[in-house]
Amino acid sequence: MPIHILSEKLIAQIAAGEVVERPTSVVKELLENALDAGAKTIHISTQDGGRKLIRVSDDGMGISADEVELAFARHATSKLSKLEDLEQLQTLGFRGEALASIASVSRLMMTTRHYNENIGTQIRIEGGTITQKMAVGVPNGTVVTVENLFYNTPARLKFLKSENTEKRHIVAVVTNYAIAYPQVKFILEQDGREIFRSIGNGQLADVVVRAVGLETFKHMLDVYAEDPAQDDRPPVRVWGYASAPDLSRADRGNITLFVNGRWIQDAKLTYAVVQAYHTLLMTGRYPIAVLMVEIPPHEVDVNVHPTKAEVRFRDPNAVFSTIQRAVRMAVIGKANAPDIRLRGGISSTSTDTTWNLGNPRPRTSELPLNMTDTGQYPKKYAPDEAFDLSDIPEGLGLPKNPRTLPMLRVVGQVGAMYIVAEGPAGMYLIDQHAAHERILYEQYMARFSSQEIAVQHALSGQTITFSPSEASLVMDKLDALKAVGFELEPFGNHTFVIRSVPAILADKDPVTVIAGVIDDLQADKQPGMGKIEEKLIRFVCRHVAVKAGQILNHQQMQDLIRQLEFTRNPHTCPHGRPTLLHLSGDQLAREFGRGG
Ligand code: ADP
Ligand code: MG
Repeated sequence: MPIHILSEKLIAQIAAGEVVERPTSVVKELLENALDAGAKTIHISTQDGGRKLIRVSDDGMGISADEVELAFARHATSKLSKLEDLEQLQTLGFRGEALASIASVSRLMMTTRHYNENIGTQIRIEGGTITQKMAVGVPNGTVVTVENLFYNTPARLKFLKSENTEKRHIVAVVTNYAIAYPQVKFILEQDGREIFRSIGNGQLADVVVRAVGLETFKHMLDVYAEDPAQDDRPPVRVWGYASAPDLSRADRGNITLFVNGRWIQDAKLTYAVVQAYHTLLMTGRYPIAVLMVEIPPHEVDVNVHPTKAEVRFRDPNAVFSTIQRAVRMAVIGKANAPDIRLRGGISSTSTDTTWNLGNPRPRTSELPLNMTDTGQYPKKYAPDEAFDLSDIPEGLGLPKNPRTLPMLRVVGQVGAMYIVAEGPAGMYLIDQHAAHERILYEQYMARFSSQEIAVQHALSGQTITFSPSEASLVMDKLDALKAVGFELEPFGNHTFVIRSVPAILADKDPVTVIAGVIDDLQADKQPGMGKIEEKLIRFVCRHVAVKAGQILNHQQMQDLIRQLEFTRNPHTCPHGRPTLLHLSGDQLAREFGRGG
């Protein structure tokens, strides 16, 4: 083939790959356009996780009839005209690529009317070619409908994630923008069902409650810090919500950051949040946070990547340390006074715990900056009042296994984490959490295999409310959850009535356990691998098992060891970590230079 210049259409299709990776990217770009157009209400609806249809309607300024076609040209934008404009950018868009890209890989229809004009325009574009354009009478605003995304780029189509994954990502994008723009009302519908709605009253807390669910929000703390201007560096402000140390997640995916209203992905800033919890969370656990960073536009370069999800700061350290300090102050404040909770109820009218975006209420009780850790267990890990191992009925489906460990005698507990025991063959150090997980897992699995899961029926009709994305996951897994003993009944609005829970939960708070299990499921790195029921059982055991940090009395320890001695596989927990270390009498003698 001789060298030749690619056609505009092909260039657009190739370039589209950078902007439109997946249905979620289309939602994101269309939302950004609606927000840039000053919309007060944005309605998003999708079908089949956006593959079949994505529609975003807004009541923003609209596009004037003579500019509609131009909007779909590559590098056509109304938001920037010279490079310096980037320094003062007030809009989310500026590259003029989104509409052209989306239109080149889908069947698109836009209906729009500029607020200054009497008649609107409807335009249809298929794979980048305009097939129809006409004047129509429509309300002010813009509706973009994207159908059959990637119909003409089969390679892209093949790499799409599952419908459910995509649906969850779309929920995340919409809820995140709703959080960043609390003064805008967002409504998300998926396959005809309303999944999320914000009220647009400007109250950050109201949106966050709807996005993360009320249960989670109850464990969130106000964050606010301001780094005053210094020499040549203007002030940096951080505000939002971060979870108290008693709430954590299995991955970093729940740390959401915005810079000047733009949702960004930044590993370093995410790390700043994680760092703020140093010593307060167990390793492998991460906080939930929704944080707004406000910084003068010229201090941040948003033109790093076509998806605009990465930014560069002129002074990254200032941003890092402000975030870390803001979160640390909030969390330490909490850790020292465990029962400080958000005051008052959370309702759409509550004002005492909330503030307007762009006008954060400074905290008056800011703590000294150079706080040091106490090095003690946070209060959270103090002994659990209600915990009693003997509540787990002995022999609850425990198979009459042969003994797999010698009979052990409990000596004591170390660090509220390990049990020291002695047996005929030396000393054993047992990880109480891992060991209990193993015991529960085998009991539970035995019951499950023989289809005899013991359940407790709830009479009181307790409910649990999830975030929108969790709720859709729960809907997907209702049958599997039921098979392992959780009968949940959809109650609308991401709320479920808890009809039954597995008896293994005994005196645990079912809401906490279910929330934890769903969180684990969402963070599951290998969604397809292994039987879903088995996974659920493992997750339940993890949340029900005695925690590291719980002080056990002698009887509790002895019970735990006794049950471990009869498990099939006493040496590892269901997740594969060791449950015990063994030091033989010989090893001990050698270490002490005895005998030999
Ligand atoms: P960018 O947002 O980077 O400018 P886009 O391709 O997303 O590029 O959009 C091109 C132009 O079309 C925008 O600059 C804007 O003028 C116009 N536009 C797009 N969507 C809307 C909308 N929902 N309402 C009003 N104008 C819009
Ligand atoms: Mg745009």
